[in-house]
Amino acid sequence: MADKVRLRIAPSPTGDPHVGTAYMALFNRAYAHGHGGSFILRIEDTDQTRYNEASQREILASLDWLGLTPDEGPGIGGDYAPYVQTQRRELYTQAANRLIELGHGYRCFCTKERLEELHREQAARREPPRYDRRCWSLTQVQVEENLAQGMPYVVRMHIPEEGTTTFNDLIRGEISFENRVLNDPILLKSDGLPVYHLAVVVDDHAMEVSHVVRAEEWISSTPLHVMLYQYFGWEVPKFAHMPLLRNADRSKISKRKNNTSLKWYREQGFLPEAMINFLALMGWSMPDGREIFDYSDIEREFTFERVTTSGPVFDLVKLTNINGKYIRQLSDEELYERLQPYISPGLDRDIMRKVVPVIKDRLTRLGEFEELTGFFFGQPPPHEASLLVPKKGTPETALEALKRTRAFLDSLPEPWTHEEWEAGMRALASELGMKAGDLFMVLRVAVTGSNVSPPLYESMEILGKEEVLKRVDRAIALLS
Ligand code: GLU
Repeated sequence: MADKVRLRIAPSPTGDPHVGTAYMALFNRAYAHGHGGSFILRIEDTDQTRYNEASQREILASLDWLGLTPDEGPGIGGDYAPYVQTQRRELYTQAANRLIELGHGYRCFCTKERLEELHREQAARREPPRYDRRCWSLTQVQVEENLAQGMPYVVRMHIPEEGTTTFNDLIRGEISFENRVLNDPILLKSDGLPVYHLAVVVDDHAMEVSHVVRAEEWISSTPLHVMLYQYFGWEVPKFAHMPLLRNADRSKISKRKNNTSLKWYREQGFLPEAMINFLALMGWSMPDGREIFDYSDIEREFTFERVTTSGPVFDLVKLTNINGKYIRQLSDEELYERLQPYISPGLDRDIMRKVVPVIKDRLTRLGEFEELTGFFFGQPPPHEASLLVPKKGTPETALEALKRTRAFLDSLPEPWTHEEWEAGMRALASELGMKAGDLFMVLRVAVTGSNVSPPLYESMEILGKEEVLKRVDRAIALLS
């Protein structure tokens, strides 16, 4: 293997593109590009029962959205094509045959029924299910007879009973497994397709992958892979097993407890740069402890030494906070542009331009823009009259407050200024014997239909005096 730095992700196209795929893509790409290397996408589609046609396209689209586009992959091309495993069958068959020739693999003709019977007996003896290696002792003649009869078979790898297999993990150090725990695994299925272990080794070798950076759930498979490299006489790549993303209860991140689909995050209006920042913080930290940084920082600073091994909890609240920070960093013009895919085509763009700076501080997802700002574009949402009544007030005091506020707003010379308005409202509140905050709240509900809204004065300015007075009249009618 040359000194090239080549890293890959190898997702299975089995459903919606997964946050775990983005997480692995981020570190693989950052390490590869940080070291002048290449980042590869390979599609592991050999489990045809779980195959989903659209998935491969969506994986690529999600990576593009996040700015994690691979250098090589299906639909992109590269010197090591094809990048889809079902298009590489020949290589796996060759490798399986080679392993048999080398004396480390064998054809196994055991039927499903026999294996089930074997596992039943083992269960009765309270033993874990294991293949008893019956076909390992078949003679050449027996094998040829079985083949001549057209008996279906799988190819298994023969694992020595003795010894241990050790590898060095760039994050976790030396890891050893006793060989006897490995159980002559199947490498090639009876349909001629490889299982993961064979395909991953054959492809990582063929694609000259220098660093295998993947999730920790693959640690226990790695000894098997190391053995295969050794049997084939191939150079063993470097390994690094990243911590798994976890649900709040520390189980592996799952659909039932988190949104795992990258499509969902995009639809909700999480910014790709916020996603990247958040994912990077899951299990890794910047040397200077900064929490907000961009992809180029990760590329420059990433080292395996700074990866933690404790399972990071995928925290939507934290992601939402980070997303809000990124939204606030955008210029008004940028935010306006980036909101476009998230709003209805008919929304008044002139009003929208005025609303963007006012809402910016409150927006945590692009997808909530219309929900938070609907009152600018149409009538405020209907609400109970009681929403207009402050906690310690009565409908009568609220009504009185609104009438006086209306008169005040009407008398306020135009153009309004924030200072005059605020001073006038505070004076009015003390005349009414109300807390200023309560008076602002009554007006806020009248104007926006809600007790949480963007800054009130700025909102009124956008709506204009006439519209504000109409809304106050409507609230007065509601209370009367
Ligand atoms: N297909 C495996 C997965 O979906 C790839 C694991 C690896 O990177 O070796 O996670």
